Amino acid sequence: MSENKKTEKIVGVKGMNDILPADAPLWELFENTVQSVLKSYGFQQIRTPIVEPTALFARGLGAVTDIVEKEMYSFVDSMNGDQLTLRPESTAGVVRAALEHNLTYDGPKRLWYAGPMFRHERPQRGRYRQFHQVGAEALGFAGPDIDAELIMLCQRLWDDLGLQGIRLELNSIGNAEERNRHRADLVAYFEQHKDILDADAQRRLHSNPLRILDTKNPAMQDMVNAAPKLLDYLGEESRTHFEGVQKILRHNNIPFTINTRLVRGMDYYNRTVFEWVTDQLGSQGTVCGGGRYDPLIEMFGGKPTPACGFAIGVERLLELLKANGEQYAPNQCDVYVVHQGEAAQLQAFVVAERLRDAGLDVILHCATAAGAGSFKSQMKRADASGAGYAVIIGEDEVAAGVASVKTLRAQEGEGGQQSVPLESVADYVVGQITCGDGCDDPSHHHHH
Ligand code: ATP
Ligand code: MG
Repeated sequence: MSENKKTEKIVGVKGMNDILPADAPLWELFENTVQSVLKSYGFQQIRTPIVEPTALFARGLGAVTDIVEKEMYSFVDSMNGDQLTLRPESTAGVVRAALEHNLTYDGPKRLWYAGPMFRHERPQRGRYRQFHQVGAEALGFAGPDIDAELIMLCQRLWDDLGLQGIRLELNSIGNAEERNRHRADLVAYFEQHKDILDADAQRRLHSNPLRILDTKNPAMQDMVNAAPKLLDYLGEESRTHFEGVQKILRHNNIPFTINTRLVRGMDYYNRTVFEWVTDQLGSQGTVCGGGRYDPLIEMFGGKPTPACGFAIGVERLLELLKANGEQYAPNQCDVYVVHQGEAAQLQAFVVAERLRDAGLDVILHCATAAGAGSFKSQMKRADASGAGYAVIIGEDEVAAGVASVKTLRAQEGEGGQQSVPLESVADYVVGQITCGDGCDDPSHHHHH
C-alpha cells in the first residue's frame, strides 16, 4: 500500500448517516417525548440484538416481501459459518425474544423498542440503508381495543411533539382465507388489464398481487382504484373487529380515512392495518406503519397469540418536525470556567466540580495543541460556547480567594462582572440563573 493510500480519508457507508451534534437535541427531544408517552400507556422497553439468524426474517417476513427479496444485509459469520442478518425491522426479533423468554406466560405484554434498522435500498430523501425506528408491540391482545389504543398513543405522541400535517389511514386486510378469495378475483382483474401493469406489477402478479395495490406508478392509479376491494370480502368476525376499532377512534375524536388499498409490506399482518402519512415529505410520506399480526407467533413455534404493533420511521418524523419549523435549542452549558496559571487551574477544577454539584452544566477550559491560550482567547471560547456565565480565576483571584463571575449574555443581567468568594461561587451563579429566568430548578433552566 502506498503512503498516500494510507492517509486517504475513509468515508462512511452510503445511505448510513452520522447524526451530528447540531441535530442531536432534536433526536433527544423526540426520544424523551416518545419514552414518556409509551410509559404513560404502560409499555415496557425491550432491547434485542441488531444481528439475528437470517432464518428469523426469511420465515417471519415471508419470502416474497421486498425486504427478504432484496433489502437484507445478510452475511456468513466467517468464524463459525452462521447465517446472520442485520435486522431490517424489529417485530421478528421482539417476538423471538418474547418466545425465548416466555414473556407472555403471565398474561399479555405491552412492549416497545428503539434502534437502528438496516435495509439495502436505493438511498434517497427519507430512505436510508441504516435508519431508526421506535416501535411498540402488544402481545397477547385479541380485541379491537388494543388496535385503537396503539393508534391513540401515536396521536398523543404527535400532539406532544407539536407535529402537524400528519393523517391516519386505516384498512382491514382480513384473514388468510378472506385474502385468498379476494386474491383470486384480484389476479383475474389484473390479468384483464395486463397492458397497464408495469414490470414490478407483472413480477408481483402471482407472487404478491396485493402489493400491486400499493403502487406509486401514476399510470396504474385508475386501474388500481377500480380493482376488487379486500374490504368487500371480509367475513363477519373481521368486519366486527374493524368496526370496533373505528368506533373507539370516533368516540375519541381521532380522525381517519379508510384507504381500501392500504396493505403492509410484511406477510404476517392480518385485520387492522394503519399508516400515518404526510404530504410534506415527497414520495417517502409514510411516517409510521402498523397493524395486527395474529399469525406470527404461531409461525415462530409459539402458542397461537394475537398481537398488534407499529413502527415509526424516526428520520422521516424528524424531517417532518423540521418542515413544521420546530425550534429546538442547541445543548448549551451554564458556565465556562477560564483560568490563568497553574494555581488557578487547580482551583478552577475544584470550582467546576462545585458548580456541577449544584446541578449546573460546566465547561472547564482545557489546553489545545496550541496550549492553554491567553485570557482573551479563553474568553472568546467562553462566548462561543453559548454559556450564560464565565467564571474567571486568575492569579489575582487565587491570591484573594475569589472568582470573578461575568455575565456573557446581556439579557441575563447587567452584563457586568462580580467578585465572589470561592466557596460561594456555586450559590451565586445558581441565584443569578434562578432569578434571571424565574425558574426554581437551576438544573432545568437551559433545557427548554
Ligand atoms: P416504504 O413503503 O416507505 O418502503 P415500508 O412499508 O417498507 O415503507 P415499514 O417496514 O412498515 O416500512 O417500516 C415502518 C416505517 O419505517 C416506515 O413507515 C418508514 O417511516 C420507516 N422506513 C422504512 N424503511 C425506511 C428506510 N429505508 N429509510 C428510512 N425510513 C424507513
Ligand atoms: Mg420498504
